[in-house]
Amino acid sequence: MSTLNAEAQQKLQQLMASFGLRTDAERTPLSNWIDGDLVAGDGDTVELTNPATGESLIDYRDAGPALLGQAVEAATRAQVEWMALTASERGRRMNAAVRRLEGHEEDLAQLESIVAGKPIRDCRGEVGKVREMFEYYAGWCDKQHGEVIPVPTSHLNYVRHVPFGVVGQITPWNAPMFTCAWQLAPAIAAGNGVVLKPSELTPFSSVVIARLLEGGGLPKGLINIVNGLGPTTGAALTDHDAIAKLVFVGSPDSGRLIAEAGARRLIPSVLELGGKSANIVFDDARIDDAVAGAQAAIFAAAGQSCVAGSRLLIQRDIFDVVVERVGRAASRIAVGLPADDATRMGPLQNAGQFARVTGMIERARAAGARVVTGGGRPDGLPAGADGYYLAPTVIADVDASMEIACEEIFGPVVVAMPFDDEADAVRLANATRFGLAGAVWTQDPARAHRVAGQLRAGTVWINSYKAINVMSPFGGFGDSGFGRSSGLDGLREYTVPQSVWVETGAEASVAMGYGDGRA
Ligand code: NAD
Repeated sequence: MSTLNAEAQQKLQQLMASFGLRTDAERTPLSNWIDGDLVAGDGDTVELTNPATGESLIDYRDAGPALLGQAVEAATRAQVEWMALTASERGRRMNAAVRRLEGHEEDLAQLESIVAGKPIRDCRGEVGKVREMFEYYAGWCDKQHGEVIPVPTSHLNYVRHVPFGVVGQITPWNAPMFTCAWQLAPAIAAGNGVVLKPSELTPFSSVVIARLLEGGGLPKGLINIVNGLGPTTGAALTDHDAIAKLVFVGSPDSGRLIAEAGARRLIPSVLELGGKSANIVFDDARIDDAVAGAQAAIFAAAGQSCVAGSRLLIQRDIFDVVVERVGRAASRIAVGLPADDATRMGPLQNAGQFARVTGMIERARAAGARVVTGGGRPDGLPAGADGYYLAPTVIADVDASMEIACEEIFGPVVVAMPFDDEADAVRLANATRFGLAGAVWTQDPARAHRVAGQLRAGTVWINSYKAINVMSPFGGFGDSGFGRSSGLDGLREYTVPQSVWVETGAEASVAMGYGDGRA
């Protein structure tokens, strides 16, 4: 084993022990948070690989249906307790809960950096988002007013926004702490209990977050984290009778399975899926900004971001210069070890993703595309860094029908394609079954709004990229999913409107059928 991996293993063990996720007598990590307790799984062993070295990091055991059942039971009981509190008390407790992360942020960031292979500076930023999301949604607890509807009868008709009960959440590996807090916070602010299954590849940070939060006064069992594989623990969650809504963040293929499971049980789902976002640069754009934007759009998080700007559409007369400049900027990105403060881009997270991305690059080459920069292993990595590293890659001479121009890559690879005019840009941008995000770079404000308005994407940036905040609704069209997260829209996904009719006339008048307009 490389020294690098031995050090990572040791550091991870230390961090897990400091958070109480110590191993049990059989050296199995306590990888679940169920009913206020850390519990080891007892199903099949899940082995995690160090993304930076490609060597074995740690293993844990799948939770499976029995533990999942205990988690649902706990959430069902705790949800009643939670709703018995006043709305303002729920808000106060959410604020108190998230303050329990104070003093643990750095350790949490380091734990995630080792397991996810993400640069430590990105992980520190992600921990900050956990706090932001809880504080934002804590503020909503006592502001979920209902409405009074001016019905044309003598009734007082009011609408309350009531929780579903227990919701099931499933998250991916690319931003585990962000997605965990992104969905936990509105779910409990709306009054629900939660069972969340993180990706099997990044299981621990959500457990640590839930454990720390509960110390802040959330009822025992309100938040439960169960870890395991999709087809076992994940399917047990989606199929459980007491789960009233599913919220899924992940790939379109799994999203389809989750929506099907929901449909079988006639429960609703929210799907936050992948993307193939277009980043459009017009020839009147400030080129320096557009180049910086293109770089951040695709190479942040090594491209493992749902909103990655993986299609760079450039007006033909500036195509060569922009491609050359984005390529040059890409080759200067500091690719390195996740633990290193100077690292701006780390490895891909796992072997499957690495094989997928490199396979797509090879097939694009074979189909005649030109690799402008990158395309292989970056130079200058330290000894032992034999994991899933791929240099920032820019690809040109791409036909819009090629796999690399159509499929989500989820890696540090951007395809550059020229367009002739506004109509051509919009046509190319929308020529995808995805619809998550997009951007327009131009100094003409009228054009910016005109083009933004024609993009079939849930989020559009003008002279910007990746500006995302918990206050603003987020979600997709088409294969990027349905439903919304963040903001009031995200909160409303966790409630059901209940319409209450109260007769205010001197005497009740109950009509048979629709006849007299009173019923
Ligand atoms: P994935 O679909 O492989 O896995 C996501 C989760 O689904 C994991 O927890 C997995 O265990 C679970 N799962 C898989 N099969 C299941 C089943 N049959 N039943 C229940 N659960 C099951 O996705 P991934 O590879 O972890 O993540 C990458 C994908 O996530 C990309 O497509 C990316 O764009 C997308 N993503 C979307 C957003 C968004 O907000 N739109 C955010 C982050 C990532």
